[in-house]
Amino acid sequence: MPKHARKPNYRNIVLAGVAVLLVILIIVLVVSMFGKKEPEPAAGSLESISSSSYESSEDVASSSEESSSAEESSSSSSSSKPERSSSSSSETTTPTGKYVAMPETPYSYDTTGKTVRNAFDENGEVDLLFPINSTYYITRNFKVAKLETVEGDYKMDYRAAEHCKEMLAAIRKELNSDISAFSTYRSYSYQEGNFQRKVNKLISKGYSKTDAYNTAATIVAIPGTSEHQLGLAIDVYLWSLYKRDGELNESFEGTKEYKWLQEHAWEYGFILSYPKDKIKDTGIIYEPWHYRYVGIENAKTIRDSGKLLSQWLEDQNIVYVYNGK
Ligand SMILES: [Zn+2]
Repeated sequence: MPKHARKPNYRNIVLAGVAVLLVILIIVLVVSMFGKKEPEPAAGSLESISSSSYESSEDVASSSEESSSAEESSSSSSSSKPERSSSSSSETTTPTGKYVAMPETPYSYDTTGKTVRNAFDENGEVDLLFPINSTYYITRNFKVAKLETVEGDYKMDYRAAEHCKEMLAAIRKELNSDISAFSTYRSYSYQEGNFQRKVNKLISKGYSKTDAYNTAATIVAIPGTSEHQLGLAIDVYLWSLYKRDGELNESFEGTKEYKWLQEHAWEYGFILSYPKDKIKDTGIIYEPWHYRYVGIENAKTIRDSGKLLSQWLEDQNIVYVYNGK
């Protein structure tokens, strides 16, 4: 009976050992590369966004660079909507990193020579024209005075909810459409989760933390600056389109529903917040699906002016103070 060749076996064991060591070495190298820390965005970076490119809030969406729904839904399947309206914190992920938040204190504004309005009335209801953005942000203490269901779990400020329901019903009836609410009211903590997820996603794509933060702010509103947090904004989209693409994107612009909204949204008190030709002014990507409630009369006036809400207020010399201060 021939002896087993021990020597080759021994050599194989040595070779295997070397291979294992090499793999470990490679893993250590890769981990150390990816673990490299970029500097946190300096506090000043928010200032620069605030004053220049960042005016209003937003959320959802995908620019051509962002292939998945920015409404932040990386975990959602195409059969479920990217987001549910909720004030509960159960669906928000605790931010793991740090972002430069808006100040915890209310904003202040120089009112010299201006027409001054209160952001909130005595019942805590926000003024329908309050232009929430990096100048007129809200704090964590803000609560929508009265939320009302639009459909399913989606809620809005009661003043917007009624007209919103009528608008959706009208589109469905006239166009036999599967248009639906995709995002309405968001709590502060929900917006925080949204924003942080977008930042994390960009970092995972290779952005530095600073670039991830700055880019995220053009797609997702910095917490405290989203119209959704006021309960006055809605994202509407087609189920069929969302199922096809798994995201909200500019293809909505080519739908008959978008055409309808362009013609009729104002009749229900809604205006388009982030138009294609105002990207430079808003600092937010084009969002044909995002509508802000301002009331019917205001919607007509602002739409006819061809201006953004914030620009229109500036033309009128109107500024807002926070609870009378
Ligand atoms: Zn939106």
